[in-house]
Amino acid sequence: MADKTESALRKALVEKARWMNDSGLNQGTSGNISARSGDRMLITPSATPYDTMTPEMIASMPIEGDYGACEGPLKPSTEWRFHLDIMKARPDVGGIVHTHSTYATVLAIARKPIPACHYMIAAFGGMDIRVADYATYGTKELSEATLKALEGRTGCLLANHGMIAVGADLDRALWLAVELETIAKQFYHALLIGGPVLLSREEIDDAMRSFGSYGLRPSGDK
Ligand code: 13P
Ligand code: ZN
Repeated sequence: MADKTESALRKALVEKARWMNDSGLNQGTSGNISARSGDRMLITPSATPYDTMTPEMIASMPIEGDYGACEGPLKPSTEWRFHLDIMKARPDVGGIVHTHSTYATVLAIARKPIPACHYMIAAFGGMDIRVADYATYGTKELSEATLKALEGRTGCLLANHGMIAVGADLDRALWLAVELETIAKQFYHALLIGGPVLLSREEIDDAMRSFGSYGLRPSGDK
């Protein structure tokens, strides 16, 4: 039986997965999302249309221990490896969103990292949003490439695939996923009119300091 917090998280995963598609951030059964629930990870099931997904269909996996063990009526997302490996490596991460959103994916196809073309890059932890090396979806190799691209960051592109955003909770991760797609769109359009003027490290550091008091933060964080 799921406890109250787990039930709320399962419901939130379904709602946010649906919202990803309704908002145009994602399409079809592409993408997947997960949330930390104590010592377990809850993750959307594989290849399941979001409009037919219910909270009971969400898969539950231990974060430590038996790697890949899973409880649930359906198979977990094929990308459970990178979700689990991120949760293991980054105790600060409570929510992960993976999408094939159009502009982020266009840049990922062109293998163009996003530079400091907008101050919002500061929300991702540094001067750029990197592109993880290409590897077949669902593999450990993709998970390793992803962890490397996410070092010190809260988002990355996946070469010829899509993007990932991570946050202290699901709301923060989804907020960042929307911001990542937006900055990807802005960078893409700036390239079409001669290329962006980039911000300096000092300017990004300033923006980063202000982010301490801006935007969605985990509840309880003042
Ligand atoms: P799943 O349906 O297995 O979650 O896969 C979708 C996807 O985006 C694979 O990278
Ligand atoms: Zn994918």
